[in-house]
Amino acid sequence: MPQKPKDSPSGKNKVARIDFRFRRELAEKIEGDLASFCYQCGACVGDCPATTYGSDFNPRDIMLKVLYGLGDELLGENSILWECTNCYNCHERCPQDVKPVEVIISLKNMLADLGIYPPAVEKVIQTFEKTGRTVPLSDAVNRQREKFGLPPLPEVPMEEIQKLIEPDSEEGEKD
Ligand code: SF4
Ligand code: SF4
Repeated sequence: MPQKPKDSPSGKNKVARIDFRFRRELAEKIEGDLASFCYQCGACVGDCPATTYGSDFNPRDIMLKVLYGLGDELLGENSILWECTNCYNCHERCPQDVKPVEVIISLKNMLADLGIYPPAVEKVIQTFEKTGRTVPLSDAVNRQREKFGLPPLPEVPMEEIQKLIEPDSEEGEKD
């Protein structure tokens, strides 16, 4: 975890020490290392819906905290990261191809590894484990699809999904 800022010898300036362990752990996640290319232009902020909720959510600020290795400000209970809607607007706007949303998803995965996620996310996980979908399929969905000339949604291959969720379960059954 990052060390708290300390007073400089003169006592005038605060010094933050970069937590490289947090940055290394994030870099091991898919696209987690992309924040290194962020030059803090702020283009990702302008079209981010999560910045309008009245909270302090700001993708540029999140990338800065990653660069500074301030993991403990991002990976705690009630993390602001869950306010990201995964809309990908930031991905389209970023001139550096940082893909802030992917970095944020990697951070959310780190939170999930720690067992920290809001009840709404837990519900989505349960629905996915049960049905293979993050949103339960209803007759209304297929009626709507029919209206637009689309075929009904296919059955979800739950066995294949189960193998992906728990790759060792088959091995265990064979033993
Ligand atoms: S994906 Fe998240 S961070 Fe990016 S614009 Fe959408 S809400 Fe904002
Ligand atoms: S648009 Fe890209 S480079 Fe600019 S602040 Fe956002 S993540 Fe960083």
